[in-house]
Amino acid sequence: MIRLFTKTVVNIAPRNTRCIASLSALNDTYQMLYKTCRDFAEQELKPNAARYDREHLYPKDAVKKMGDLGLMAIATPEEFGGSGLDYLAYAIALEEISRGCATAGVIMSVNNSLYLGPLLHWGTDKQKSDYVSPYCAGDKVGCFALSEPGNGSDAGAASTIAKNEGDKWIINGTKCWITNGYESEASVVFATTDKSLKHKGISAFIVPKPIKGLDLGKKEDKLGIRGSSTCSLIFEDCEIPKENILGEPGLGFKIAMITLDAGRIGIAAQALGIAQAALDVAVDYASKRMAFGKPITKLQSIQNKLADMALRLESARLLTWRAAWLKDNKKPFTKEAAMAKLAASEAATFVSHQSIQILGGMGYVSDMPAERHYRDARITEIYEGTSEIQRLVIAGQIIKEYGV
Ligand SMILES: Cc1cc2nc3c(=O)[nH]c(=O)nc-3n(C[C@H](O)[C@H](O)[C@H](O)COP(=O)(O)OP(=O)(O)OC[C@H]3O[C@@H](n4cnc5c(N)ncnc54)[C@H](O)[C@@H]3O)c2cc1C
Repeated sequence: MIRLFTKTVVNIAPRNTRCIASLSALNDTYQMLYKTCRDFAEQELKPNAARYDREHLYPKDAVKKMGDLGLMAIATPEEFGGSGLDYLAYAIALEEISRGCATAGVIMSVNNSLYLGPLLHWGTDKQKSDYVSPYCAGDKVGCFALSEPGNGSDAGAASTIAKNEGDKWIINGTKCWITNGYESEASVVFATTDKSLKHKGISAFIVPKPIKGLDLGKKEDKLGIRGSSTCSLIFEDCEIPKENILGEPGLGFKIAMITLDAGRIGIAAQALGIAQAALDVAVDYASKRMAFGKPITKLQSIQNKLADMALRLESARLLTWRAAWLKDNKKPFTKEAAMAKLAASEAATFVSHQSIQILGGMGYVSDMPAERHYRDARITEIYEGTSEIQRLVIAGQIIKEYGV
């Protein structure tokens, strides 16, 4: 919080602050945070995003600067080195960062909600001092290892095993698709400690990296968010101290589900940022592109597209802010976070698809960012629960509400 205010807001006059209409209803803290992130994204991320994508380049310097601004630990209390803000602040900041660069957005989101989130909630004082504070300033990042080759959506079927032997746990198995897998220096890892209890036998562990018995698989060659690393974590008799369990044995599945509820607000925000960037490029291009003697913004079919794009984007933003507000006010938000993630990710795919259409041929080539936004958007419908899983979560909550 201090860093956000002193370092950036006071010293840098925000520019290009195309206004999010609903933002004016929020207090100064959120508005200043928005302007800080907007300015940083315009100056540091947007000019480099195509290069990160083309060269599969992890944006190390940008991550450090995001850490300096307090963006790598927004909702982490100041006593642990975080910014001491809330999830609405997180959603606003992550949208603007992702608008500049979706790769930076996912790195920020994994560190904030998937890694720091469970450590703050269930970590002991010692775990927080060892594994939270050093991960707030962008020097170190963490990761979250739930998915496996044999189970993604069906997270309760984990086949990675952790065996207790005296004063240590021994982990065997493979986690896959792990974001920040290459750069992270610690991971929250889920493994079965009692197979007979099925999902209630899963536990969560903190695994420092590098460590003997843990190898990394190849970096996945992805469609989008190509500057972030995604890889397998391969455990072969990997020994960690007994005290590295997070929470109680058997609490792992609950930790994963609660963490993902909050994480989905982050992915919704990432999707909003991608959608906003796609709308930005479409409006800019359409206002300059002449066809039949006039800018294509004068054509009704282009106007219809712009209207539909803005409608989906702004509806999803309100859902995202509502989910964040509920979480911040300690109210149930599982359904709302799933709705936000579903609406925002589908909006991102729709808006970026239409953006390419508005640019015509120029939408299809990498000289313009529209095709990158389209590729980046697609993952938001897959990770942290696919769209099909979000619909299951929403329907499950509605059926519960009706008591039928
Ligand atoms: C780039 C990237 C980064 C990732 N980062 C991480 C990370 O950091 N940590 C991590 O743990 N995981 C991560 N993941 C994994 C991601 O969360 C999973 O890919 C996702 O949950 C889907 O699992 P799956 O790939 O096994 O698909 P599956 O579960 O095999 O699903 C295949 C299809 O079946 C559908 N399906 C499955 N079950 C149902 C059902 N009950 N009802 C209806 N439809 C269903 C799915 O929606 C999907 O369409 C990442 C994945 C990618 C691609």
